[in-house]
Amino acid sequence: MNTDVTSSALSSLLRALAPHMPSANIISQNDRMRPFEADALTMFKQLPLCVVLPENETQLKALLCACSALNIGVVTRGAGTGLSGGATPSAGAVLLVMSKFNCIIEVDGDNGVACVQAGVRNAAISEAAAVHGLYYAPDPSSQIACSIGGNVAENSGGVHCLKYGLTVHNVLKVRVMLMSGEVIELGGLAPDAVGLDLLPVFIGSEGMLGVVTTVWVKLVPKPRHAEVILASFPTVQSAADAVANVIAAGLIPAGLEMMDAASTAAVEAYLHAGYDLEAAALLLCESDGEPDVVAQEIAAMSQILREAGATRLQVSQNEAERLKFWAGRKSAFPAAARLAPDYYCMDGTIPRKSLGRILTAIAAMEQEFGLQCLNVFHAGDGNMHPMILFNGADPDEVERAEHFGAKILEASIALGGTITGEHGVGLEKIGHMCMQFTDEERGAMWAVKAAFDPPGLLNADKAIPTLHRCAEFGRMHVHHGEMPFPDLPRF
Ligand SMILES: Cc1cc2nc3c(=O)[nH]c(=O)nc-3n(C[C@H](O)[C@H](O)[C@H](O)COP(=O)(O)OP(=O)(O)OC[C@H]3O[C@@H](n4cnc5c(N)ncnc54)[C@H](O)[C@@H]3O)c2cc1C
Repeated sequence: MNTDVTSSALSSLLRALAPHMPSANIISQNDRMRPFEADALTMFKQLPLCVVLPENETQLKALLCACSALNIGVVTRGAGTGLSGGATPSAGAVLLVMSKFNCIIEVDGDNGVACVQAGVRNAAISEAAAVHGLYYAPDPSSQIACSIGGNVAENSGGVHCLKYGLTVHNVLKVRVMLMSGEVIELGGLAPDAVGLDLLPVFIGSEGMLGVVTTVWVKLVPKPRHAEVILASFPTVQSAADAVANVIAAGLIPAGLEMMDAASTAAVEAYLHAGYDLEAAALLLCESDGEPDVVAQEIAAMSQILREAGATRLQVSQNEAERLKFWAGRKSAFPAAARLAPDYYCMDGTIPRKSLGRILTAIAAMEQEFGLQCLNVFHAGDGNMHPMILFNGADPDEVERAEHFGAKILEASIALGGTITGEHGVGLEKIGHMCMQFTDEERGAMWAVKAAFDPPGLLNADKAIPTLHRCAEFGRMHVHHGEMPFPDLPRF
């Protein structure tokens, strides 16, 4: 971007904001903006025009109105733990950081509702609700850091979402400021809001429609009891079959997660969760609820897992052991981070029956690209998280990691899955949206964006590719070769 244009836009913006917020809430020096140049997908880095941290809706409105008047783009950031580059700054745009919206406004134990500002951490909601015996169910592994506003924007999930649902199933209402400065509220606290239900349209919209300022979430009673089975399998395929059999038996585990041998080894070296290092794959299969129901479910699940070929079953004997087993799975990302300077976490989904096939395909890709890949799965949902290890300081490895990741996404589509289960499209998968959706479908998505954000200033270069971008992506693919995976069935 032309530096004269940038500095003139910045001067105009600073002048417009000066009467409305303290200068300490605006960062415009390059060295101080560095910590904001990427989210957790560190492959993409970009300095913004400036970073603005409003403290309240009055300051937020001043910022959005000034940006609208000056035609300056805005990228919203919560805690920056996103894994698809959704909060990566755009060149010449403001990075709006919501971390000062950090107040828990009310925890209503009688009605099981919490009202919190968008920058509140996911885990802080459950901590505040604990005195009422309640908690907020969606539990991304990043929950000690990620914000509820980011969860809404990404429709985040977690290991217990198979039974308790994603963010969209647990948020009752949101308060949103549009680019015009207008405030709207979507959803409601009553069971059925009147009129068009726009809340599910907004949840998962990746910061492209409006800025969430306040969120009302559903709180649920903490289960009286929970146990988890740690099951070892001699092959990935037998573990995948066990997953399908548990679900086919009509059981809904509170969590059903899978790890391959490489991720188990990484986790054991990191925090000694008690995992079986001989197993080709591990399953964590949890039941929660009343103690007698849990006992019955654990017995039924154990039988199915044994019949599918489990070589070893360990049932947690107390709460400390249950948390230890889960701590391993929840630490898979930091454990992977110890093995290489960088990792690239993918997020495609596939039909559960194809878990074995995708892992075989990924093993072949490890050879093709010469990079190691660790695999953890929200197996019950068919949502995979392959983590490709690479060195970001080596341009050749970066390129190979990108191609490796792209090929996993293409395999997911070919197997009848999708390019993202919970991490969003962001910058990372924007090209692959062209493979998954037709021009008409993407046109409908742009029409929804235009209804909320007519000037198209919010996170404009993320999530939904333009026709032009898809044309570029198509040319790139023809250049790279044939349509990928001709031998896999298309759906
Ligand atoms: C170690 C690790 C583990 C993870 N585990 C999981 C997991 O188990 N499940 C899962 O789903 N994800 C997981 N994630 C991804 C990430 O934590 C989630 O996507 C999370 O919801 C992002 O929240 P955030 O506050 O960090 O948002 P950011 O990264 O700051 O932003 C994410 C997106 O939300 C938008 N946004 C943020 N705040 C607002 C707002 N107030 N209004 C409008 N738009 C906004 C941004 O523009 C961006 O598009 C993990 C990440 C890491 C690093």
